[in-house]
Amino acid sequence: MARAPFDFPKNLSMAEQNKPVALQAVKGMNDILTPESARWEWFESKVRALMQRYGYANVRTPIVEPTALFVRGLGEVTDIVEKEMYSFEDAMNGDKLTLRPEATAGIVRAMIEHNALYNAPLRLWSNVALFRHERPQKGRYRQFHQIDVEALGYAGPDVDAEQILMCRALLLDLGLSASDVRLELNSLGQPAERLAHRAALIAHFEAHADVLDEDARRRLHSNPLRILDTKNPAMQAVAEAAPKLMAFLGPESRAHFDGVRAVLDAAGIVYRVNPRLVRGMDYYNLTVFEWITDKLGSQGTVCGGGRYDGLFEQLGGKPTPAVGWGMGIERMLLLLEAAGVVVPGAAPDVYAVLPSAAALAAAMTTLEALRAAGVAVLMNAAGRDGIPSMKSQFKRADASGARYALIFGDADLARGEVALKSLRDADAPQRGLALADAPRWAAELRNA
Ligand code: ATP
Ligand code: MG
Repeated sequence: MARAPFDFPKNLSMAEQNKPVALQAVKGMNDILTPESARWEWFESKVRALMQRYGYANVRTPIVEPTALFVRGLGEVTDIVEKEMYSFEDAMNGDKLTLRPEATAGIVRAMIEHNALYNAPLRLWSNVALFRHERPQKGRYRQFHQIDVEALGYAGPDVDAEQILMCRALLLDLGLSASDVRLELNSLGQPAERLAHRAALIAHFEAHADVLDEDARRRLHSNPLRILDTKNPAMQAVAEAAPKLMAFLGPESRAHFDGVRAVLDAAGIVYRVNPRLVRGMDYYNLTVFEWITDKLGSQGTVCGGGRYDGLFEQLGGKPTPAVGWGMGIERMLLLLEAAGVVVPGAAPDVYAVLPSAAALAAAMTTLEALRAAGVAVLMNAAGRDGIPSMKSQFKRADASGARYALIFGDADLARGEVALKSLRDADAPQRGLALADAPRWAAELRNA
């Protein structure tokens, strides 16, 4: 039997038991180490700038929520609630808790709890860690991360369109192009319209009961819409031929959909209306959309969202129209790599070379002045074995990616100077700079 990562094997000798055992991360949960973490920070800085431009404010809610929130919010017959949730009982008090598998339900809970929409609607965003017990593979993990965007208290198609435009703006900011991702769009109408469609859908699938797989048979009467989302190749034809929800939409739902499309058309966004796009949670109505790439195999959906006008009431709040999207950060970073987007590294501007212990105090004072002036400085630290050779310090300077080395040689320091050497241009002559003037020449070293 597989053992939990923090369970120590019991059949060990005393000596073996006393030896520290190296522990491993939980399966499907990743450490994000250097230099990869620099890519995350770069991505997150682009996101923050985007949110600023669109007037979305940051919000943070707990990672753990009552299990009932997700069962009620997402729907009992969904992949997430049926088989993907990390749910547990708090050993201290018996509370039934779940590591959040998605962001929206927690944010809506918080809005209701704090009556946060009392004065005005809100545009919010969050950077969230999410947990789903899925089979780990490339682009699919058990802890993953999303940029989540929510507009709460807005009913019109204008905000749906705004959020789709935001996605496109972010994709372009990240250096992706129209050929890297495509947009699919659908309308799920209103509950009454879905009810009429549901009857037609059940009749259609019942007539083809022989090709339904186990999942589909189980969902036939509980959640037939979800059958349209099937990835089973044997069921594609019957799903494709199913009655289209679009044909059951009344004039208001149609007008909403047309309103979204009019903005997208005017903005020159290319999209495909996909009548089988239903999304994984039950809370959606009207507009739903996904941004999909062909560069990541079957984990191709990088961003998905839509309107969820019924969720506030479902969670005990006042009726509140809302729309949002979630973008998978891991998949976006994989896509950027696949698309050949070069992400700037976290290289310092300057690497400080210290040939002797005597240089330390003067050097560190100067480095502080440079940092105060906005220069990114990495100092060669001597460590336990004393001062490393100049050769090894220059090797580290090169490896750091810095554009300049500042060499704090004893003779230069005696004259009140430090030597500046370009690490990019081997022919550029070394220059002496006055320590006292550091704030003045700092500007030249700062990354443009
Ligand atoms: P999929 O169909 O790929 O399972 P989903 O419909 O379950 O995706 P959503 O719940 O809509 O996904 O989440 C939005 C985005 O979050 C996805 O488009 C994807 O980028 C990302 N995502 C979802 N599940 C995972 C996961 N297990 N690991 C990494 N990213 C994920
Ligand atoms: Mg999923």
